[in-house]
Amino acid sequence: MKILQEEPLSRHGYWRVGGPLERLVLVDDAADLAAVYAEDPHLHLLGNGSNLLVPDAGLRGTVVKLVGAFRETRILAEDGLGPSGDTVRFYAGGGLLNAVLLARAAKLGLAGLGPLAGVPGTVGGAVAMNAGTALGEVADVVDAVEGIGPDGPVTIARAALPMRYREGGLPAGFVVTGVHFRLTRAGFEEEQARVTAHLVRRKATQPLDLPSCGSVFRNPPGDAAGRLIESVGLKGHREGGAAISERHANFIVNLGGASAADVMACVRVAWDRVRAVTGVTLVPEVHVLGDWPASVWPLA
Ligand SMILES: Cc1cc2nc3c(=O)[nH]c(=O)nc-3n(C[C@H](O)[C@H](O)[C@H](O)COP(=O)(O)OP(=O)(O)OC[C@H]3O[C@@H](n4cnc5c(N)ncnc54)[C@H](O)[C@@H]3O)c2cc1C
Repeated sequence: MKILQEEPLSRHGYWRVGGPLERLVLVDDAADLAAVYAEDPHLHLLGNGSNLLVPDAGLRGTVVKLVGAFRETRILAEDGLGPSGDTVRFYAGGGLLNAVLLARAAKLGLAGLGPLAGVPGTVGGAVAMNAGTALGEVADVVDAVEGIGPDGPVTIARAALPMRYREGGLPAGFVVTGVHFRLTRAGFEEEQARVTAHLVRRKATQPLDLPSCGSVFRNPPGDAAGRLIESVGLKGHREGGAAISERHANFIVNLGGASAADVMACVRVAWDRVRAVTGVTLVPEVHVLGDWPASVWPLA
């Protein structure tokens, strides 16, 4: 276990913004996590920081990052269930990067994780957010989630988790320590082809060359947040070092030297203007923590 004091989120988050985390604890195993959790059950989780915003003034309290044993993978069972009769139950630790998970599953010829291709977070973050893409969402392949909550360590079956669009449905204060995936041997080649085409499309349509958090707002039913933000003339809008991307209006990018306040100002202007002009109230996808001036956050 390693404890970093006043460690800036800007060193860890994808946006490269955000002030000091008072106490960032890098936790290697379940015993250490249980001890840290007992000390502060209100702790926050830092996955890969790809969907997180904290103020420039920073965040008080404990933030945990899962490392060490929380990055392991293994086959749990080849149980031959499912329509294709070749299901493989596969375990991945909550602190593992999706990219590493995909690479390890690909080495074994396992299909099912395509929806996480190009999502730059961790396994725990993917479940917490029910991450997904045009290829599906992680909820489609989760069998069970291991973690620790206010009542101690527990494994929750997928059927007991109300996972919805970009919502993991986790109990309050729950830390995902590992995930059981239900994968298949059939369909691997076909999935790889879909993933490749999908990644090419993303590269052409998203500003992946600049720091961002991906989509800032969820898509409203039957519409796209990016289309709405573009329709109110905000593509390219700048606030200090941050801007609403010219390439995809639901991305707010750090052009270099942006502050968290600059990013939040872009979030706010997009939300305000879309609501004023179109009547649609956008719901943020990004997770915002810490104390912000009431004039900018919460969005209400
Ligand atoms: C370039 C780019 C493209 C993106 N594209 C997509 C996309 O296509 N689809 C998509 O869904 N998302 C996308 N995202 C957003 C982001 O990658 C996902 O939301 C991802 O799942 C967040 O994971 P993380 O580990 O980075 O979590 P963080 O950003 O570190 O945290 C996000 C939330 O998850 C919680 N959390 C993290 N780990 C755990 C854990 N172990 N237990 C409990 N809670 C936890 C945190 O407390 C926080 O509330 C993109 C982001 C970027 C930067």
